[in-house]
Amino acid sequence: MVDSTWGTGEPPRDVLGPVDDGRAFDEHHPPSAELIADCVHCGFCLPACPTYVLWGAEADSPRGRIYLMNEGVNGEPLSGSMVEHFDKCLGCMSCVTACPSGVKYDRLIEDTRAQVERRYTRDRGDALLRRAIFALFPYPRRLRLLRGPLRAYQNWGLQKLVTRSGLLDRLGPTLTTLESLAPRLRKVPPPPPRVAARGQRRAVVGMLTGCVQGAFFPEVNSATVRILAAEGCDVLIPPSQGCCGALSVHNGRREEALGFARRLISTFEHMGMDYFVVNAAGCGSSLKEYGDLLADDPAYAKRAAAFSAKVRDLAELLDELGPVAPRHPLPLTVAYHDACHLAHAQGVRAQPRALLRGIPELQLREIADPELCCGSAGIWNILNPVPAAELGDRKAANIVATGAELLVTANPGCMMQVAAGLRRQGGGMAMAHTAQVLDASLRGLGASALVERP
Ligand code: SF4
Ligand code: SF4
Repeated sequence: MVDSTWGTGEPPRDVLGPVDDGRAFDEHHPPSAELIADCVHCGFCLPACPTYVLWGAEADSPRGRIYLMNEGVNGEPLSGSMVEHFDKCLGCMSCVTACPSGVKYDRLIEDTRAQVERRYTRDRGDALLRRAIFALFPYPRRLRLLRGPLRAYQNWGLQKLVTRSGLLDRLGPTLTTLESLAPRLRKVPPPPPRVAARGQRRAVVGMLTGCVQGAFFPEVNSATVRILAAEGCDVLIPPSQGCCGALSVHNGRREEALGFARRLISTFEHMGMDYFVVNAAGCGSSLKEYGDLLADDPAYAKRAAAFSAKVRDLAELLDELGPVAPRHPLPLTVAYHDACHLAHAQGVRAQPRALLRGIPELQLREIADPELCCGSAGIWNILNPVPAAELGDRKAANIVATGAELLVTANPGCMMQVAAGLRRQGGGMAMAHTAQVLDASLRGLGASALVERP
């Protein structure tokens, strides 16, 4: 049964109280026994799993978590330790790529998390932190309100003062992590609702501005719009668009995600777009799954599947369309970091690399252990600051070892997490979104627009 409370003024089912009937899972989309049975326990996924790499514990591996799901399906109660092992999963989907048996761990963990959120009572601190995160992050306007105070903190010397005072060390790892993740904010005007293609029109493209991307990386959205227009796309950017629901669905808040998804579909579906383009990996992966997410909703099932079929990551769309705008040289060495939700969840690895290789004089370098997550994983780094920093440090060390001048990736979460890791390594490597690199090439801005050289 679909929860029909969304939009009626009643709270959605996943924010109602927990259920204690002695069983881990109820009948509303439990992890599928058939999908669990696909796991042949071979263990090929173990070395690809960041939590197994960190702790070496079977229960913190994909195979161990599938075992625990099976226990739940067979009637075991939802214990605190079971929930902890599910919570510790980053949802990076590295195990999906590694698994030779095609186990759909992504579906399994998503269904498991929705059950945990509805049926398990979290301790007060954890519940409060999650409530605060979800009262803020999926709301672009609320996030934008943070820009002013954050800019003042960064630009009026307060940040340096707080860092020097040692106060951060006393605030605890969660606040320290939040402080370290905050990017340097730039003032960029919001994009207009419609931007016309330059030259002959090749496609009409709806564009997601995103929550964190729009509030903290508006320059990435501006670059995306300019690229699309230069490559012959009319770009539709209605300012009324909201969150896509990715954070909610990845954290088991399925009913909340359904509400966001319905709203986004309704905003764009009658605009006559050929494609819906996304420049944030985490958002793209859940937008491509709207068909599954809304499959139980008779009013939206077909519309959601039609919408999902149009979704493309920016690099994917540009690869599909083929280049028409002339590229100017960027004499730079670049390391490309695969965001998990782009590489593992969407299988988009070749297109961003092809895009970068298409820029004259740009040299691409590969990062060691590309399959291992940087530790960002949506809000995982806020909920698990200590292991997230360890993963961030590993990634930063591998990036520094490439000797590249610029780190390029395609997800705001990765940009913040990797930047914090690089700072902890004692250096600041320049970073840019794939869109910003291509934009600099199309506009002939030269390498100095992306890196400062002595
Ligand atoms: S999604 Fe990532 S963290 Fe979770 S089990 Fe798979 S590899 Fe491990
Ligand atoms: S999830 Fe796949 S790789 Fe991992 S143990 Fe099961 S079958 Fe093997």
